Amino acid sequence: MTKVLVPAELLDGNVRSHTLSAISAARSITEQTGGSYDVLAVGEGASSAAPALAAYGAEKVLVAELAGGYCAEAYAPTVAEVTRTGGYAVLVACASTYGKDLMPRVAARLGAGIASDVVAIGIEDGRLTYRRPMYAGNVLATLRLRSGVQVVTVRQSEFAPAQATASASPVQQTPIQTDAAAERVEFIGIESVKSARPELTEARVVVSGGRALKSADNFTSVLEPLVDAFGAAMGASRAACDAGYVPGDLQVGQTGKVVAPDLYVAVGISGAIQHLAGMSGSKVIVAINKDREAPIAQVADYFLCADLFDVVGELTEAVKALKS
Ligand SMILES: Cc1cc2nc3c(=O)[nH]c(=O)nc-3n(C[C@H](O)[C@H](O)[C@H](O)COP(=O)(O)OP(=O)(O)OC[C@H]3O[C@@H](n4cnc5c(N)ncnc54)[C@H](O)[C@@H]3O)c2cc1C
Repeated sequence: MTKVLVPAELLDGNVRSHTLSAISAARSITEQTGGSYDVLAVGEGASSAAPALAAYGAEKVLVAELAGGYCAEAYAPTVAEVTRTGGYAVLVACASTYGKDLMPRVAARLGAGIASDVVAIGIEDGRLTYRRPMYAGNVLATLRLRSGVQVVTVRQSEFAPAQATASASPVQQTPIQTDAAAERVEFIGIESVKSARPELTEARVVVSGGRALKSADNFTSVLEPLVDAFGAAMGASRAACDAGYVPGDLQVGQTGKVVAPDLYVAVGISGAIQHLAGMSGSKVIVAINKDREAPIAQVADYFLCADLFDVVGELTEAVKALKS
């Protein structure tokens, strides 16, 4: 019987979809081992997020209201203490920026082993196993953690958001913990990029551009109309980000964001292994490239061998016509 804790990821008191993927992973564990999972909401707006969190089948929802914005140093002591006192064996969060920032700090406090970026959870000889990509996705490793408490972050693309259940979980308050490390850090403010487009890691359609776009202006005049015709999020290769055509937060790949939308359109991207590491889990991949030998052709479901400057405008008009 395994007790699992899911630290919820919130934004302005709302539950982010990353949390629902983490709940799916928690369900996968409890279905295989027996046991149950609880959800812990820490931070400003935790109480207002509790009713939404209570709809996902947790044994209980724990709430620790903490004023101020997100700071891993401030959140980690509470997550660690709830884990200790609640006797949890596994902690699961999504391998989002939040999960990657918070969970290693929690693991360090607990002396726990951590399996990050997990794509599948299994059981062998009665012990949990975690499958995760390594070497830019060239190999898949299967890990077992030896520590008493196990900390896990899972890829959102591999764990579909949990569906709500009919019953509501009870909600309990839990105290905030603090320590010397937490007190050395103060949250001052956050400056986030506001975009009318969907968030890259949560979008159902992603249109990405590569070095072949040649300039920031071409991203705006050639690629963006296609992105908006689809109602998609915009992504980019590292070469395009490094060249300054678009900001670095649009980078898809091993050292960027991992996406797995229903549709991924790669425009003028060669498909280097580091780029594929961030998008090859997409359901349908369309590539536009003038080199039919480009590596992206090996993962593309549809490959248009053409000069992007000749075809993207026409494709944009076709998508607009279909949508209207
Ligand atoms: C440690 C490490 C981490 C990395 N992490 C990442 C990462 O996270 N994400 C990432 O993307 N890369 C990453 N890279 C870089 C990666 O190796 C590639 O250099 C990069 O992805 C190439 O970007 P690109 O495909 O846009 O450019 P290129 O490789 O230059 O490809 C451009 C493509 O456009 C095609 N093309 C050119 N002109 C046209 C045209 N007019 N019409 C149509 N097609 C055209 C070409 O045939 C070519 O296939 C990493 C590299 C390292 C070493």
